[in-house]
Amino acid sequence: MKRPKIIIIGDGIVGLTTGKLLSNYAGKIDIVKKLENPVQPVVMNEITFKILADIWGSGSWLDLLKFISGGLVNWGDKPVKVVKSFFAVDLSLFKDYLVQYLCKIKKINFIYNVPDSIDDYDFVIDASGKKSYFTTLCSSYTKYAFGKRKMIVGISPMISKVNLSIIEALDDCWIYAAPINSEKALIQLMHPDTAKFDDEKFRQSISKTEYIKNIVENNVAELKEFNAFPSVLNDIFSNNRVSLGDSASSFDPICGDGLGNGLRSAILVSAIIKAIRSGEPTEKCQIHYKRKLYNTFSDHLKNCMLYYTNCKSFKGKYWKEEMKLINKALPVELEEIARASPNNYILHNFRLTASNKV
Ligand SMILES: Cc1cc2nc3c(=O)[nH]c(=O)nc-3n(C[C@H](O)[C@H](O)[C@H](O)COP(=O)(O)OP(=O)(O)OC[C@H]3O[C@@H](n4cnc5c(N)ncnc54)[C@H](O)[C@@H]3O)c2cc1C
Repeated sequence: MKRPKIIIIGDGIVGLTTGKLLSNYAGKIDIVKKLENPVQPVVMNEITFKILADIWGSGSWLDLLKFISGGLVNWGDKPVKVVKSFFAVDLSLFKDYLVQYLCKIKKINFIYNVPDSIDDYDFVIDASGKKSYFTTLCSSYTKYAFGKRKMIVGISPMISKVNLSIIEALDDCWIYAAPINSEKALIQLMHPDTAKFDDEKFRQSISKTEYIKNIVENNVAELKEFNAFPSVLNDIFSNNRVSLGDSASSFDPICGDGLGNGLRSAILVSAIIKAIRSGEPTEKCQIHYKRKLYNTFSDHLKNCMLYYTNCKSFKGKYWKEEMKLINKALPVELEEIARASPNNYILHNFRLTASNKV
């Protein structure tokens, strides 16, 4: 059979990883890239690190990682130490490495605009992040949002060289700090949108923490604000159009694994594309993807509720309003798919197999 021609819209970690996963299989892959690549430090857990290492192998990207030996959670009750390894990385540098890697593969081309004739491709993959390119194509695409909360992100010099990541809840926000190298720490502050935070309030919040204020200088530079509420696309796979990563569903950073969830969708979609081309029924494969993704998203909303309601600090009116928005049910059509009985596919070694063939 002729090898498929694929377009991937978006050069985030998920789009690039999908390009790599399909590179041995596709006939041609066009990846639509944006010119800017802003600094984006993130922290990943050990499983996500292992997924990346499985896909990308060892290489100089490993030097970009900062190992963090554990965590401290101060969630409005008794502080708890977490014995877990984390890794901090600047996604912009990591993405540069991946682009250079993919540029060496002949069948992969980087382009800078989405062509008018996307339906000439066998598969159109939307990996364009939270805003979802498909929503700009057609009004039948809708993104459902579960909250209004925002995250302010900045980098601060460290005053104490601890190798811990720390999360602390205050009355109207939570703050996360993690070292990204021997000198600097990433600071993320999550607040309900209506609470209105400016630089001064940000600094005041850090000074109210019990632990974080002792490890970072309170003069965080270049603060940026992002939407950080969960959202999900109503149609993630129909005809030849499939959406993955943050474009399909994005998670509250409280889950600590937005990156891992995105990578899992890349692995599943790559396996499904191969399964469809080798004769598995398209509709069954599409339903399998939708069920997995909506199920994970539905669980994520329940976990957000648990996490936020368990926090003794969040009793203010802003969080109460926010909790109502998190607790909103998934639209019926998505909930039905999430609850549909599994159709017996197994993902093993990056391949999707019908379980009766195993
Ligand atoms: C503030 C914040 C902090 C976070 N912290 C963490 C963390 O600590 N740990 C963690 O695991 N996760 C974290 N996440 C989540 C994580 O960053 C995302 O889940 C992950 O990066 C999603 O990757 P993606 O490739 O799907 O989307 P993105 O990283 O958003 O990539 C999409 C790319 O597509 C490009 N693009 C968009 N439109 C087009 C177009 N029309 N044409 C071409 N290109 C286009 C964009 O420029 C972008 O480069 C955080 C998210 C936010 C917002």
